Amino acid sequence: MHPLLDKFFTLILPFQCVNCHRLGDTPWCLECRISTPLDPQIRDFPPEITKAKTLFAYTQLKPLFHAYKFMNIRTLDHCLIDHTLALVPQCPMDSPDFILPVPSHQNRVRERGFDHVTRLFQPLAQQWGLPLISAINRSKDTPFLHALKTPQRAKAVHNAFTLSTPTLIAGKRIVLVDDILTSGATVQEIAKLLHQHGAAQIQVLALAG
Ligand SMILES: [Zn+2]
Repeated sequence: MHPLLDKFFTLILPFQCVNCHRLGDTPWCLECRISTPLDPQIRDFPPEITKAKTLFAYTQLKPLFHAYKFMNIRTLDHCLIDHTLALVPQCPMDSPDFILPVPSHQNRVRERGFDHVTRLFQPLAQQWGLPLISAINRSKDTPFLHALKTPQRAKAVHNAFTLSTPTLIAGKRIVLVDDILTSGATVQEIAKLLHQHGAAQIQVLALAG
């Protein structure tokens, strides 16, 4: 191809879709978005968590999350947020007071340059008219949990979290948000902490599960 023509195509089609690898004007193409419908699932993690909900099937978002979290393609969060907001106009949880994002350890935030869960949920919280409060610290740098079996996951996150502003929690209805919900070990560990500090209700919302 002529170099000028090549440059022209790079300008109008600067991205390769992370899922189907077609060239286009966004890193997650419209066809792939359309073929990723909402697939809400409810999970049970008693006794502290009253309801846990996932919005999309993880298998469909796996290439997207991988590119976003490990290849650091930041523009993907706009695609994910736009897609989620288009399909979930209101917060699908029972009238919470605020949203708490599950934090990454500061080492991960430093590696990526951003806290991905906060970035993903901040525009959603705004749209839903709910405050998003970063009140949890991840004091233990846990290994990537997907490589571990369920009992090992619970052990890995045991005592991994602290609250930066515990006084905010008492009597509040809280939605804990995360990108992916699998074994539930992380949210259960945080829910125990929130329960100890008097949370009135703890729900969980994850993009994928
Ligand atoms: Zn695609």
